[in-house]
Amino acid sequence: MDAKIMNINNKELIKKSIQTIQKLSEKLDEVKIMHVCGSHEHTICKYGIRDVLPDNITVVPGPGCPVCVTTQKEIDKAMYLAEQGYTIATLGDMYRVPGSKKSLMQLQSEGADVKIVYGIGDAVKLAKKQDEKVVFVAIGFETTAPTTAAELLNKPENFYILNSHRQTPPVMGFLLGGGTSLNLDGFICPGHVSTITGLKPYYDPCKTYHAPMVVAGFEPIDVMASIVMILKQLVNGEAKVENEYTRGVREEGNVIAQKIMNKVFEPADVAWRGFPVIKDGGMKLREEFKKYDVHENIDVPDIKETINKACICSEILRGEKLPHDCKLFGKTCDPMNPVGSCMVSDEGTCRIFYKYSKFR
Ligand code: SF4
Repeated sequence: MDAKIMNINNKELIKKSIQTIQKLSEKLDEVKIMHVCGSHEHTICKYGIRDVLPDNITVVPGPGCPVCVTTQKEIDKAMYLAEQGYTIATLGDMYRVPGSKKSLMQLQSEGADVKIVYGIGDAVKLAKKQDEKVVFVAIGFETTAPTTAAELLNKPENFYILNSHRQTPPVMGFLLGGGTSLNLDGFICPGHVSTITGLKPYYDPCKTYHAPMVVAGFEPIDVMASIVMILKQLVNGEAKVENEYTRGVREEGNVIAQKIMNKVFEPADVAWRGFPVIKDGGMKLREEFKKYDVHENIDVPDIKETINKACICSEILRGEKLPHDCKLFGKTCDPMNPVGSCMVSDEGTCRIFYKYSKFR
């Protein structure tokens, strides 16, 4: 077995990394590091990583949950299509996200044809078995977009996607460039996304904003090591893209998945929940695949979104606030009765804080 894999839960290594972070922090002022991955937030909360960080080192969760960053408008469009009689195939998390009026779950209880699927493959199978058209709610970052692309390359029939795929590095650049009121010093880059993209997409934001960017795995030592790597760069006045997660991520990423994704999708300027339109923040279907795009084939009106004013998901996604800052957290909003998108998915910051919180 690879020595690095054997050592990932080594307590001595963790102790050493805590000491190294302490020493490095003494050479630095306030440091704010953001991550954009719900799995990183799980590790941080589950193992109490924030509790062992020096006071001047903060790690904040950003927009790292695909369900959470899907806009209310996109969710409302899925509702509209369900109301029009289309079969909506969706992942379990999206089923429960509140739209402006209802959730897909509520619509299903009222008789709409909403089916929960494990992935786009199940949705395509569903379309083959019935005459009614199936619309798959296609969410996710670079990790899931290749799967969507692979299915569309097989030319499914009777099938559309409500395309809500997004690209992660552009939002990181946006945040570094002032897209949050925080003054960010660096990023822990998402391990899953990076297995597909490799390191290349981080070079531009890293250079433009002179910010260390370190790809990290999901064990506690991975997160600790990535913080050490970022702090070392800051102490040395450097800004580099580094890969802590070498056992999972290659410099070039998954080239086959990239080719499949790029054959079907091209970059597009797209809004994220809590953010304005971000240049290249999403992806749209290329010309020859537009026949699968809901917007090209079904007349979907522009729906005016309504968001509960007390919900601070937008600020949480920008890293400006934490779930405990929300007055609904754990009171009228919990995983059984989510008010906002961040309380629905396992990757959502509010849901993760609720799971591990001492204060709920
Ligand atoms: Fe929104 Fe609920 Fe999170 Fe508050 S606790 S920000 S209402 S999801």
